[in-house]
Amino acid sequence: MSECLFCRIVAGEIPADVVRETDDTVAFRDIDPKAPVHVLVVPRAHHADAGSVAAADPALAGRLLAAAAAVAEQEGLTDGGYRIVLNTGTGAGQTVFHVHAHVLGGRPLLWPPG
Ligand code: AMP
Ligand code: ZN
Repeated sequence: MSECLFCRIVAGEIPADVVRETDDTVAFRDIDPKAPVHVLVVPRAHHADAGSVAAADPALAGRLLAAAAAVAEQEGLTDGGYRIVLNTGTGAGQTVFHVHAHVLGGRPLLWPPG
């Protein structure tokens, strides 16, 4: 059994509120939402972070981005605007080392982020 939290969610070993699935991505609601809509989009395959997946499988990195945009549209965020965030490395706040795109929206999003 994997020790990676998001591999375990992808495998169905840990429950999650899944909102969208493709052949190679899964999207589920963040357990501690930072906005009215806060969905995480992950590849089914384990890659530690954005740089790793971009280097190892750039086509998959592109499909991850496309999946994040599709989630934003599905969640009704397209008109109001939304943010896709890939925290990369502990200094940037990454806590789960299975790449995930945060899709955030439903409220005004300030810039720059903290
Ligand atoms: P990051 O800090 O960018 O690595 O983001 C990790 C995210 O995973 C955080 O926003 C957490 O709230 C979220 N998270 C942690 N455990 C779970 C879980 N079991 N289900 C859904 N989201 C989770
Ligand atoms: Zn993983």
